[in-house]
Amino acid sequence: MKILVPVKRVLDYNVKPRVKSDGTGVDLANVKMSMNPFDEIAVEEAIRLKEKGVATEIVVASIGPAKAQETLRTALAMGADRAILVQVDDGVEVEPLAVAKLLKAIADEEAPQLVILGKQAIDDDSNQTGQMLGALTGWGQATFANEVSVDGGKATVKREIDGGLQTVNVSLPAIITTDLRLNEPRYPSLPNIMKAKSKPLATKSPADFGVDVAPRLKTLKVTEPAQRSAGIKVPDVDTLVEKLKAMGVA
Ligand code: AMP
Repeated sequence: MKILVPVKRVLDYNVKPRVKSDGTGVDLANVKMSMNPFDEIAVEEAIRLKEKGVATEIVVASIGPAKAQETLRTALAMGADRAILVQVDDGVEVEPLAVAKLLKAIADEEAPQLVILGKQAIDDDSNQTGQMLGALTGWGQATFANEVSVDGGKATVKREIDGGLQTVNVSLPAIITTDLRLNEPRYPSLPNIMKAKSKPLATKSPADFGVDVAPRLKTLKVTEPAQRSAGIKVPDVDTLVEKLKAMGVA
């Protein structure tokens, strides 16, 4: 069974985003970029399914600039077998619908039994691509996975929902999106980083799949979160209680 894992190159989660001075977006010049954390979890889950003998091949795919090759190499170093880069020009933001159309075209060619995506990319916070891919393929989807098992042509997925977990069965082929607590992704070992350099990485363009990646949205404005005002120190608990009462909290 083949698993397709789409991975996105995003601003590293440890980096504090800086808004460009003209307010048109986040400044990505000279900042550390990494694999979207939810996609690391997706790659890890695919590797675990391969280690259990459920999957036989893991294909990772990214839509992004030439530098997204680094992200794909990281996934190969973790344990994926093969990579596909759908390359776009530097600075081009491909929206979730176009990403989903490209992933549908890749899924048509590769015929995976499972596509495991992150639940959301931490740069655009869209939480749309998996669901759109589900609609385009007509396959079942289990989003926000907290636990996954695959057996006899179906996947059983525990989903994180408000205040609890929901367990669903979805017949294969299917789409799964990962939530934070699904697993803890491994760090690639040095020998595996070296080995990953010679694993196959195919480069394509959106035109190869006949997909138009022209944006449908225009960003009007991006702003930093409001600054928090400084707190005050109170001398004792009684004063604190008085102040809370005055604020209507206590
Ligand atoms: P989003 O809908 O943008 O929040 O992204 C959800 C998931 O879709 C991500 O965690 C990735 O697995 C996948 N995805 C989104 N954009 C891309 C991209 N440019 N290349 C590869 N995978 C992507």
